[in-house]
Amino acid sequence: MIRFEDLIEKVRRNNPDADVELLRRACVFSAYEHKGQVRHSGEPYLVHPLEVADFLADMHLDSVAIAAGLLHDVVEDTLTPIERIEEVFGAEVAHVVAGVTKLGAIPFSSSEERQAESFRKMLLAMVDDIRVILVKLADRVHNMRTLGHLPEDRRRRVAQETKDIYAPIANRLGMSKVKNELEELAFRHLEPEAYEALRAKVEDRRRATEGLIEDLRQTIATKLTDAQVPIVQLEGRIKRLFSIHQKLKRQRISVDQVYDLVALRLITNSVKDCYAALGIIHHTWSPVPGRIKDFIAMPRPNGYQSLHTSVVSERGFAFEVQIRTAEMHQVAEEGIAAHWKYKEGRIGADRDEQYFLWLRQMLEWQQEVRDPQEFMQSLKVDLYPEEVYSFTPRGEVKALPRGATIVDFAYTIHTDVGHQCVGGRVNGKMVPLRTPLANGNIVEIVTGQGHSPSRDWLSFVVTSRARNRIRHFINGEEKKRATEVGRKLLEREARRYSIRLKAALTEDAVGRLAGELGSQKIEDVYAAIGYGKVAARQVLSKLAPESSLAEPPAQEASAPRARDARSGEERITVRGFDDLLVFRARCCNPIRGERIVGYITRGKGVSVHSLGCPNVVNLLYDPERRIDVAWDSQDDRSPYVVRLAIQVEDRRGMLADISTQIAGIDTNIKKVEATTSDDQRGRISVTVEVRDVEHLDQVVKSLRGVTGVLDVERAAR
Ligand code: MN
Repeated sequence: MIRFEDLIEKVRRNNPDADVELLRRACVFSAYEHKGQVRHSGEPYLVHPLEVADFLADMHLDSVAIAAGLLHDVVEDTLTPIERIEEVFGAEVAHVVAGVTKLGAIPFSSSEERQAESFRKMLLAMVDDIRVILVKLADRVHNMRTLGHLPEDRRRRVAQETKDIYAPIANRLGMSKVKNELEELAFRHLEPEAYEALRAKVEDRRRATEGLIEDLRQTIATKLTDAQVPIVQLEGRIKRLFSIHQKLKRQRISVDQVYDLVALRLITNSVKDCYAALGIIHHTWSPVPGRIKDFIAMPRPNGYQSLHTSVVSERGFAFEVQIRTAEMHQVAEEGIAAHWKYKEGRIGADRDEQYFLWLRQMLEWQQEVRDPQEFMQSLKVDLYPEEVYSFTPRGEVKALPRGATIVDFAYTIHTDVGHQCVGGRVNGKMVPLRTPLANGNIVEIVTGQGHSPSRDWLSFVVTSRARNRIRHFINGEEKKRATEVGRKLLEREARRYSIRLKAALTEDAVGRLAGELGSQKIEDVYAAIGYGKVAARQVLSKLAPESSLAEPPAQEASAPRARDARSGEERITVRGFDDLLVFRARCCNPIRGERIVGYITRGKGVSVHSLGCPNVVNLLYDPERRIDVAWDSQDDRSPYVVRLAIQVEDRRGMLADISTQIAGIDTNIKKVEATTSDDQRGRISVTVEVRDVEHLDQVVKSLRGVTGVLDVERAAR
């Protein structure tokens, strides 16, 4: 078990400028916060952050990263708020700890390759400081090393996640040492039997070839020394079990058939020496054609440089040789961490960002391209990095364009989920439909049976999928609505002339009518009336003899009660959101629960006024155009927007009091504007969303109760 003093010693040795005091405080803080907690191994919890910090110190990272390593589990595992970390250790450490905590909160469950790829991209998209990933990887390495202490199911889950997500990320970052360790440990826990069997076989082979490898090593050493090529390091090793395992699976061969089980690694001083050594080796043994790779001239995208070759010894024994300089070796092992050796306190924010941009690009380019279309796809991601990655509660990743909302998300699941979507929970909290998603959000869609999209959604959705589905639905609905309105208008017109519509609508008449209007069904005729393409009167004239229409219309407006008694047949229902055919008049902006009256406009559908609206009096001059309307009982999803004009005494805190009062009764405020005048009076205009007239009354009443409020009035829209 590592001791804190050993850690400090190591940090000092690596970096004399390190902020040891910061580390000391971080350790004490972490020890205090994790006090009493134990790991599954039974060890005190502090061992874990200490090991993580030690790993980061080995990577020669700066004090901020190491301090973050010591504190990385404090926010997640104890109830310490991140603000406290910021207070005690400053913004930089807090930023890294917050980043690590955020990554830890993401559920990963799918092992589908496509999902894993989105997930890795999302993870990297969420990170704005490379140290977050480095701490996370260090954390993962230690957790994997101690994985044996966990119960079986959790062990499998963590190992799978490591294999699918974290090892590939380490690989992308060129950190082969970390990648290798993670892969080996994941393999051991995911396929314990295969691992053991392979280990035993490879061990046999190793024993059998030990002498041979030593001979080869000696031969190379002698030849290079003779040619005056300096050797920094030369070692023979058996390849890693996981990579052998993959090879066996890929090529369907047995361990004995793996011809390059053994690899020799030669580290020299310079590039020139690398090529010289390669020449000497090829001169000594026969190279296997097609196995020579020059990653010095053409480095891998993650920065890896080395010469690779496979040769066959005089005794028919094949082995691989890797040749590189010490510097290349360090990059090969540590990858980005090698580039990332921080000089204390000298990280320019700009350089940091630029480097990160470059890093992201590099990661994108590195995607293995399987076909041209996929290549275009990956380029697109490059050109438009504006994507957000969020999750379903089951951990499925959804990649959406930035700005995508709950509604966009709902439509990616299923058209019906989109249509019936009434709200969403983001990370467990209810949010409005128009809420834009952020990376890493866990999104749960709340649906309501029978709910349907509204035109309003078109103003905030960003995906074409959602847009098309909503449009399609609304057009269908509008047609239905137009049909309904048209039929009622025709019925009403017929009644005025005492024409029995049912009798008049013979099959013949309908066929003629429809034909004239270029359609086939009576529904289309109704819709045409509803859309205002043709007047009800005009249609009626084609159904009844001219003479019956010449008579003065019955005075039905004088007896509205009688008509009411004929049931709501002729009524048109009004919803919260205006549609094209039935809309709430701007002058009085009626809301649910108010008494209302409809007025047939010329060509624009039915306008709905509140009964108390002054304009209604004028409308009654033309009583034929009046029509009964009622609130649609099905519709309870849309709030009504109402503006209130409030007169107040001009005092400090007035605006805050009013906002608090409104929010206090669970009412959404859309807009607030305040003006003051010379007479110590202020005017505040508040736009609120209410469910119905009762709700509105409640708001008005509670506002009147605020000290200093002189008057509250409902204003026109
Ligand atoms: Mn941890």
